[in-house]
Amino acid sequence: MINEAIQQQINKGEMLPLMEEFYTIQGEGFHTGKAAYFIRIGGCDVGCHWCDVKESWNAKLHPPTNTDTIVENAKKYANTVVVTGGEPLMWSLDYITTKLQSLNLKTHIETSGAYPLSGKWNWICLSPKKTKLPLNEIYNEAHELKVIISNNHDFKFAEEQAAKVNTNCELYLQPEWSKREKMTPLIVEFVMKNPHWKISLQTHKYLNIP
Ligand code: SF4
Repeated sequence: MINEAIQQQINKGEMLPLMEEFYTIQGEGFHTGKAAYFIRIGGCDVGCHWCDVKESWNAKLHPPTNTDTIVENAKKYANTVVVTGGEPLMWSLDYITTKLQSLNLKTHIETSGAYPLSGKWNWICLSPKKTKLPLNEIYNEAHELKVIISNNHDFKFAEEQAAKVNTNCELYLQPEWSKREKMTPLIVEFVMKNPHWKISLQTHKYLNIP
């Protein structure tokens, strides 16, 4: 049970339900291969059936953690911090990103865009989901659009989403891990016919790192 004082700190982003934090290599999308400190915040109601972090969904399972402590931990490592989830925009991220940027750390987010954008970001990776579509406000802010391809219909969804982002946004298609053998050849074919798209692979899973 969270008391009122803690709830107020959560509301202000001074505490966050931290699931895990770790230093690794960004495995996906535009920044693939770069060292980064990952902060995974609990809580998500988007409900992707293929989600590979279902244990993140229930925020109550993840202890409210002092944001200053998370920032202190992050600054010991790389100069890039990736905030992910869960769906991190369920929480106010103004406080943590202001602190991180004041230390000259680059702030990146991985989000479905289903909640209002908070925080100051050097890189926004928007990964829209059919089950809970992004809010309109985020399309213009995204630096990267990453659509997960699990079936043939997802290509149409990807093009619909690409029509909404800004013209500088990088476009990525990424096979859903459990369908990668079936979908990767289809993605290769699609990208060769539609070269404004690029392929993103979950290279961290091939490298066997977090
Ligand atoms: S948005 Fe992300 S964390 Fe939430 S269910 Fe989908 S894949 Fe999982």
